[in-house]
Amino acid sequence: MKALISLALAAVATTASAQTPPSWTRATEPFAIADNLYYVGTEGLSAFLITTPKGHILIDGALPSSAKPIEANIAKLGFKVGDVKVLLNTHAHFDHSGGLAELKRDAGASLAASAQDRVALETGKYPGSEEVTAFDFPPVKVDRVLKDGDKVGLGGVVLTAHLTPGHTAGCTTWTFPVKVGSVVRQALLYCSTSVAANRLVSKTRGPQYPGIAADYPRSFAKLKAMKADIFLAPHGEQFGMAAKRVAMGPGKANPFVDPTELARVVAASETDFKAQLARQQEAAK
Ligand SMILES: [Zn+2]
Repeated sequence: MKALISLALAAVATTASAQTPPSWTRATEPFAIADNLYYVGTEGLSAFLITTPKGHILIDGALPSSAKPIEANIAKLGFKVGDVKVLLNTHAHFDHSGGLAELKRDAGASLAASAQDRVALETGKYPGSEEVTAFDFPPVKVDRVLKDGDKVGLGGVVLTAHLTPGHTAGCTTWTFPVKVGSVVRQALLYCSTSVAANRLVSKTRGPQYPGIAADYPRSFAKLKAMKADIFLAPHGEQFGMAAKRVAMGPGKANPFVDPTELARVVAASETDFKAQLARQQEAAK
């Protein structure tokens, strides 16, 4: 158990400090996924811009070093960073929350986030692994605290927050309608349900946070009952972003529309969770 955790932490720690996967910091061209929904992240770390006549909504801030590249992408699309009014987050990990503090300052936007991820956001720490400084990110104040089912609206766009805890205690999956051509589709930004560096069970240190091992199965059940025409995720590789963007083109069906993708991703993630739980339980004996 201990070896496994140290190994997992060491891997992520190294990743954060020295060997960040190159795709995480590699810039990529922003593009429209659908009507008023844009990808403005780096190659490997997502950030989504939803534009409205009353200002814009930006979801996720990637790494601390990603704030300026995200802002550059917003500008490239012809939008103003100062028009971003609302910042949202899928989950409070350094690779998705790291840029939020700077983006918030530069845009003058307010941040809405789940109650359960608030401490992580406001301390810039990974709860349960506070000693791993490689997980740290610039703290950012939460202006509006959200609970499951809460809605965030701006300029006629309404997003719904669905708490899918496990990956973090306040992991938030977002749903919102978006037009593809003349058809309104349901978009779902999945928070992630991977185990990653999380302790599900541990004899020596206890779980990453109380109740984590029970949260994952509940989140899988919840996600299985949800529908998504457009499946989005915090990492491009989790939703086949690279292949889909090259498959886009005039007269072609939008490749981001795939009502079967959510179920496939959740099933694969649940299988992986069960294997990791068994491994951690065995190691904790
Ligand atoms: Zn994460």
